[in-house]
Amino acid sequence: MFYCQNCGAKIESAENFCSFCGFSFDNNTESSDKDARIDELEQKIARLEQRQVKKTTSSSFSPWMAILPIGFVAAFLGFFALIIWIVRQ
Ligand SMILES: [Zn+2]
Repeated sequence: MFYCQNCGAKIESAENFCSFCGFSFDNNTESSDKDARIDELEQKIARLEQRQVKKTTSSSFSPWMAILPIGFVAAFLGFFALIIWIVRQ
């Protein structure tokens, strides 16, 4: 006895297809193999995405992301101060 993977109905005899929903068990083993492979690939992709998320989150905490705009503003203010100093002379 086993359960239909499509509808979950109990299958008492060794039938090739489910008498409740008509799901074929002949193709089931092959498709479940494919599903397992797809699951493996999806898990790998999920792991890669998690790594990318970790990388992006870790880079967002990098001090250079805060220092760069502050340095840009400081350089602009220094240039502005230099122009004022030249004009006043
Ligand atoms: Zn079924």
